[in-house]
Amino acid sequence: MITKKTSRRIPAAALAAGLMMWGTAQAHGDKHEHGVVHLDVAIEGDTLAIQLESPLDSVLGFERQPRTPAERQSVDRMLATLRGGAVLFTPDARGQCRFEEAQLESALIAGSSTDSAPGKSEHLDVDVSYRFRCAAAADLSTLSHQLFALFPRIQRIDAQVATPKGQSRQVLKRPDATLSLGG
Ligand SMILES: [Zn+2]
Repeated sequence: MITKKTSRRIPAAALAAGLMMWGTAQAHGDKHEHGVVHLDVAIEGDTLAIQLESPLDSVLGFERQPRTPAERQSVDRMLATLRGGAVLFTPDARGQCRFEEAQLESALIAGSSTDSAPGKSEHLDVDVSYRFRCAAAADLSTLSHQLFALFPRIQRIDAQVATPKGQSRQVLKRPDATLSLGG
């Protein structure tokens, strides 16, 4: 199931400008397909950077503010799991990497409510940036993940990998847990 983020009508006069904005949204990987997660993995210098973009449905099961204590608990659990970069991702040992930080953004989190006006049917994402520092980044050859294990609703991962050895697109299907870093 592929769904667009909004279904607002664009007045004809605004179409030219709107197309440009649309293009920008697409350039930011603003696709939204339930069950699919996008990963951007890059090695630059001694840094391994991972950008994760997921529909909330894939990691939470709903895409609106929580309404019950149980739903609020689900949100807290999801946020804690997504922030746990050292559990979610394991660069192979040769890289000697250490997890440094995760930065998480979602319209679900208080303070960023621009995307969540009530009463509209729409789709919400969560974006997380992870950073690892690696003593031997050039020796990295694989990156393992626990996304399928920790989030049963994720069925596929579309990944883009950019390293000094080259660039690739990789599609992982459950239960494949390893990305190649081109080694
Ligand atoms: Zn959705």
